[in-house]
Amino acid sequence: MSDLRERAQALDTADALAPLRELFTLDDTVYLDGNSLGALPRHVPARVQEVLTREWGELRIRSWSESGWWTAPERIGDRIAPIVGAAAGQVVVGDSTSVNVFKALVAATRLAPKDRDEILVDAHTFPTDGYIAASAARMTGHRIVPVAPADVPDALGPRTAAVLLNHVDYRSGRLHDLPGLTAAVRAAGAVAVWDLCHSAGALPVGLDEHGVDLAVGCTYKYLNGGPGSPAYLYVAERHQAAFDSPLPGWTSHADPFAMTPGYSPAEGAVRGRVGTPDILSMLALEASLDVWDGVGIDAVRAKSLALTDFFLECVEAYAPEGRVTSVTPAAHRERGSQVALRCEDAEPVMAELIARGVVGDLRRPDVLRFGFTPLYVGFADAERAARVLAEVLGAPAA
Ligand SMILES: *Cc1c(COP(=O)(O)O)cnc(C)c1O
Repeated sequence: MSDLRERAQALDTADALAPLRELFTLDDTVYLDGNSLGALPRHVPARVQEVLTREWGELRIRSWSESGWWTAPERIGDRIAPIVGAAAGQVVVGDSTSVNVFKALVAATRLAPKDRDEILVDAHTFPTDGYIAASAARMTGHRIVPVAPADVPDALGPRTAAVLLNHVDYRSGRLHDLPGLTAAVRAAGAVAVWDLCHSAGALPVGLDEHGVDLAVGCTYKYLNGGPGSPAYLYVAERHQAAFDSPLPGWTSHADPFAMTPGYSPAEGAVRGRVGTPDILSMLALEASLDVWDGVGIDAVRAKSLALTDFFLECVEAYAPEGRVTSVTPAAHRERGSQVALRCEDAEPVMAELIARGVVGDLRRPDVLRFGFTPLYVGFADAERAARVLAEVLGAPAA
């Protein structure tokens, strides 16, 4: 057996998070696409079945109160809060990330001083964030300024109202400096909005600690909430009283069942709600969050870095010279929880990898993405993925 295979075994044996894998439904493929769709925790189907048969089937309308459906958005928000470093009462779950980007960004411009007319947006952002930002800017009379995150401090000025940034770049896996950039944005008198889709559940975010203003993120990637599970919105406590949502639906009203013609917003993060929550998805997400009980995000981060380091080492050892190059930063402080490899024939290579039981994904035209979810991916998985990749790329069998 090769050195690296032996090391993988030893690392898995020493890994305190390794037993968590048993909580998930997995097969003998190596699943490295948890950064697109997290795996299913084993206990979720029974819980969803119970919601269907008992809560909907038998209790029907009574479940809005008796089964806690009405308060699910803020209750589940409070379960996500510790994972992203937020105290209770600041996170509300609902709608998609796209919709929450809209709410957060428009609200950010309303929190900012009135004479400011620019919104800085991560120039390499995930497309939906950019599209939504462009429309929000048109509606609010702002101008979009695309800026690479590292250049934000230089681009900030007296005209900057809000800044929309990704914590981890979805393509390259680059981790941006959330503490430093947030401090710079706030020092310039602007409002920072962070998209946590590729960081929440994979590494410490520290929203409260770093003074983030507003944040959004999805729950179906590293939080394993299920396909299309609802996103979340973080509104720092200091902004809640002035948070003015552009989508003030009735469920964010201070007294929704008064059914009054005039809008008067609820206190707290509830203000970020819109309409009737999608209960089935939401309760599947709530159940899936059980896997985090007793799990510290620092341990998750330590394992994530060890996994991506080890994968890169295996790729370096096994892959034929020059066929792939990592576009993910080598420095830990700049790396999220994925490895992106540039490869000229990425499309057929990924198709063949999947056919051979190693599931990553492709970002056209030439990026192979491998996401490492520390809760259920192990070191032997990383070694096997690199070994199969090398075979596909045409190296002699390792
Ligand atoms: C995954 C992801 C989204 C997804 O948005 P949806 O509204 O859930 O489709 C948005 N932004 C970023 C940065 C993402 O990584």
